[in-house]
Amino acid sequence: MIPTEKIEAQYYKYRFHFVCFPEHLYFLHGYINGNDIYINKNDSIEMQSLTMLHEVVHAEVDAGCDLTDHRPVKTIRSEGFANRISRRDVKRYLA
Ligand SMILES: [Zn+2]
Repeated sequence: MIPTEKIEAQYYKYRFHFVCFPEHLYFLHGYINGNDIYINKNDSIEMQSLTMLHEVVHAEVDAGCDLTDHRPVKTIRSEGFANRISRRDVKRYLA
């Protein structure tokens, strides 16, 4: 199994969609809407894996919406937390 498949198997309660984002959103790696998580399929497998875990952290810890565009302190903390956890956990799947 490739890393993204391992993560899908681990977090089977979410539906992961690997899609091409519109050109003006090329910088976006992923986003979450309820249990649907959208991943930029043009990213490397490593980045896709990281993004999957990042969005899962949001789903399990936050209200489940990615707040990247907003700037309150709470959001910045929540992004930092999601980044830390996903960077730590992705190693398991990329190994
Ligand atoms: Zn985020």
